[in-house]
Order: sequence, then C-alpha cells, then structure tokens
Amino acid sequence: MPGGVAKRDLPTKTCPVCQRPFAWRKKWERDWENVLYCSDRCRRKGK
Ligand SMILES: [Zn+2]
Repeated sequence: MPGGVAKRDLPTKTCPVCQRPFAWRKKWERDWENVLYCSDRCRRKGK
C-alpha cells in the first residue's frame, strides 16, 4: 500500500502511564511522533 498506512499494520506505542499498548488513530496522523499517551486521561496523569 504505497503512501498510506495499512489497516492491519498500524503503528503502536505503549502508554507510559497505564503501560498498555495503543494503536495509531486517524486523529493523530499529523502528530503521531508527539503522541505519548493513549488518552487525555493518561496525558493529564503523565504531566
Ligand atoms: Zn494510558
């Protein structure tokens, strides 16, 4: 799939707050490199 992210092979990261893996989401497509937390809730806890 040139130029796009395959739906079955989304990148994942591990949330440092809840230690759970989370997958790439469309809303993060422009900011994935800066996404650290799985949710706003964890982001608040993490700071
Ligand atoms: Zn989390």
